[in-house]
Amino acid sequence: MENHSSGDDARLEVHDLSVAFRLAGGVEAVAVDRVSFSVGKGETLALVGESGCGKSVTCLALMRLLPVPPARILGGSVRLSGRELLTLPDAEMRRVRGTAMSMIFQEPMTSFDPVYTMGDQLAEAVWAHDRTITETETAKRVLDAMASVGLPDPAGLVGRYPHELSGGMKQRAMIAMALLGNPEILLCDEPTTALDVTIQAQIMELLARIREERGMSMLFITHNLGLVAELARRAAVMYAGRIVELSTVRDLFAQPLHPYSAGLLASIPRLGGTVERLPAIPGSVPGLGNRPAGCSFAPRCVYAKAVCREVEPDLEDKGGGRLCACHFPGVAAEKASAMEAVAG
Ligand code: SF4
Repeated sequence: MENHSSGDDARLEVHDLSVAFRLAGGVEAVAVDRVSFSVGKGETLALVGESGCGKSVTCLALMRLLPVPPARILGGSVRLSGRELLTLPDAEMRRVRGTAMSMIFQEPMTSFDPVYTMGDQLAEAVWAHDRTITETETAKRVLDAMASVGLPDPAGLVGRYPHELSGGMKQRAMIAMALLGNPEILLCDEPTTALDVTIQAQIMELLARIREERGMSMLFITHNLGLVAELARRAAVMYAGRIVELSTVRDLFAQPLHPYSAGLLASIPRLGGTVERLPAIPGSVPGLGNRPAGCSFAPRCVYAKAVCREVEPDLEDKGGGRLCACHFPGVAAEKASAMEAVAG
C-alpha cells in the first residue's frame, strides 16, 4: 500500500502506539490512541494537526522523552531500522537519541543552557556519544556542523552565548547539534513556528537540503498544512489523539477525505484567492479526558449525522492506498466542488 513504507524500505515503523496521562484526581486519559504510521528511508512524513491533537506527545513518545508518570505508554510498538525502542534499556535508548534519532523543537532557546557558550554545548553533544574523541577533532566537528547549516563565522560563534544569537541562528544551531550524531531520522516538532516568515522559509530550505544531501528520513510535525507541501510526500492528519487521514500530500490537497483535513486546507491562504476572511474550523480540539463518544470531530463537523455521535469510525483503506477515519469520507470535498460548480 502506498501509504505504508514497509519491510526493507521502512526506517521508522510505529504500530498501534497509545499513550495516556494521569490527570488530577487520578483519572487516566488517552492522549495518543492506536497511532500507526511508517517513515521510509530518505522520506519525509508530515504529522499535521492543531495544538492539543497529540502530535507532539507522539513525537516525545518515540524519543521516550515523556515524563513517566504522569505519562504512561499503554501499548504499541516503535521500531527504528527494525529495532524495538519501547523496550530498550534506558542506557541504550540514550545512545539512540542523538545518534540514530534526533529531535529539533519549536523553541530553540529551551534546548540550550544560557550559561554555556554555543561551542561548549555543541562539543558536549559530540562527547555525549563518544568520550574518546580528541578536543581537536571535537572542535573540527563542531565548526563543520555549524558551517553545514549555514551559520556565518562559526569560529566566532563558538564563543557566543545563546542569548547573543537571533531566533533563526539558534534554530540553525539546534539543527547542527541534532545532526552531530549523523542520525538516521530527524524528528522536527514545529521547527519554524516561533520564527518570522522569512526565516521560516530559510529553515524549510535548509531542512530540504539536509534531507537531500544526507538521504535522511524526517518526521515533520506542524499545525501548518501550507508547509507540508514544501517538504513531505505523505501526510498523516491527527485529531484528538488519532490519525484521521493518511495520504499522499498530492491526494490530500486535491481531495481531502476527512472533513477535518478539508477544514485545515480551507484555512490556508492561497495566492490570488478572493476570500477576504479565511474560513476557520469552529470550536477547538476536545481536552484530555473530555473526548466525546463516537467520532471525536463530530461536535465541530457540519456533516455529522446521528451515527457519527454513536459509532467511532475506524481508520480504513478508502481506496488508492488512502486511509481515513470517517463514516462519510470525501463529503466535504464533494460539497465544495458542488458549490464551485454552482458558482461557476
Ligand atoms: Fe464528520 Fe461524521 Fe466524518 Fe466524524 S464521522 S468527521 S462527524 S462526517
